[in-house]
Amino acid sequence: MLTMDDFVNEDDPILRQVAVEVPLPASNEDKQLLASLMEYVQNSQKPDIAALYGLRAGIGLAAPQVNVSKRMIAVHLKDKDQLYSYALFNPKLVSHSVEKAYLTSGEGCLSVNRPVSGYVPRYARITVAGTDLEGKPVQLRLKGIAAICFQHEIDHLNGIMFYDHINPEDPYAIPENSIAVER
Ligand code: ZN
Repeated sequence: MLTMDDFVNEDDPILRQVAVEVPLPASNEDKQLLASLMEYVQNSQKPDIAALYGLRAGIGLAAPQVNVSKRMIAVHLKDKDQLYSYALFNPKLVSHSVEKAYLTSGEGCLSVNRPVSGYVPRYARITVAGTDLEGKPVQLRLKGIAAICFQHEIDHLNGIMFYDHINPEDPYAIPENSIAVER
């Protein structure tokens, strides 16, 4: 199982690379890695297991964060009693709203061990397509925290960190045409 020891440091160049597509059907090795990304995120939300193994809690994880520059992400979160639990190969933003959204608490990242202040502008609504662990195509329409989390994780596949989006002159400037998302 993955632990914090498997994570690369924030300044590791792998976090700035564009990750490569996973050839499909996925190899057993790629499936195992994707399953382990999901396992980490789920375990990190179980207080007993997280405490035992020293796991920092997260709602999403991308392969480059554990030193594999391949296009895979896992997201596991609950919003308004709905569970969003998806492990995807080659996730892609196929469309998005014009309207933006931002998390009022700002964003955090399992690769960033320091607080970063500021609002991160995201699209308010997105459609994501990808392939799940069973090889089935998945298409998701997302809004709120789930849309924000998927954008954060897909950014990792393109070498983008959440703070790249923060306005350096005025970190708490409300992004234009945006809605506030509470978490
Ligand atoms: Zn992150």
